[in-house]
Amino acid sequence: MSSIVIQELRVSIADKEIIRGLSLEFSTGEVHAVMGPNGSGKSTLAKVMAGHPDYQVTGGDILMDGVSILEMEPDERSRRGLFMAFQYPMEIPGVSNANFLRAALQARLPEGEELDAVEFYQRLYQKMDLLEIRREFTARAVNEGFSGGEKKRNEILQLAMLEPVFAVLDETDSGLDIDALKVVAKGVNTIRGPEIGILLITHYQRLLNYIIPDFVHVMSEGRIVRSGGKELALELESKGYDWLKAVKPETVGAN
Ligand code: ADP
Ligand code: MG
Repeated sequence: MSSIVIQELRVSIADKEIIRGLSLEFSTGEVHAVMGPNGSGKSTLAKVMAGHPDYQVTGGDILMDGVSILEMEPDERSRRGLFMAFQYPMEIPGVSNANFLRAALQARLPEGEELDAVEFYQRLYQKMDLLEIRREFTARAVNEGFSGGEKKRNEILQLAMLEPVFAVLDETDSGLDIDALKVVAKGVNTIRGPEIGILLITHYQRLLNYIIPDFVHVMSEGRIVRSGGKELALELESKGYDWLKAVKPETVGAN
């Protein structure tokens, strides 16, 4: 079993503190949802885990199997098994989807080992069929001219191909209609299992009707203010976030 432990994390950007003493743990075999109002710092958390250079960690730590990842470059974090799907996926003009995935997989093989092209395409097409992505997308530049829904499905395709140990999915549901949401959820549900730990970041409860999390955490003003089981998401759906904002983190759950 592998684990990620986030300890008392503090993060600033442009001298503004966004993450303010956030602690969270998750392990392989688990799906955790992080929910919270807009501006609570959810995307900041994802970017810091990925190693985005603009964000300054001013306190705390992020440990992967007991080893701090904070000093590691993003590509080292990735090679150690951490995968990020961003809220706004990047376009990479001039690099085809197929070549991008091949290069990413090749980079994970030991020196001198060559990725088998036939096996690669077999696997790619199998995953594309699962995610209802048309074959022509292999030749198109990564995310270039893709609709919002296509970009999100493409992120899940990358996830399915790379088979990471940990996946952080930031608002994978935003901008998706219900059919696309179901396709994305089916992809994630196919990937989930004992070998992977998933952190699902979402503003809305809707996604969690299709991907049932094992744990739910509520984030507000840069901290986790409440944690619970999947029923916590339903409580948020009916009550909104305001009842959590009204109380100080220390006192939430005391009554
Ligand atoms: P969420 O994903 O929960 O909506 P974000 O992490 O995107 O929240 O943003 C949290 C806060 O940090 C917001 O107040 C936002 O304006 C601020 N913030 C995020 N990124 C930057 C940035 N690059 N520069 C300045 N402020 C930022
Ligand atoms: Mg966000």
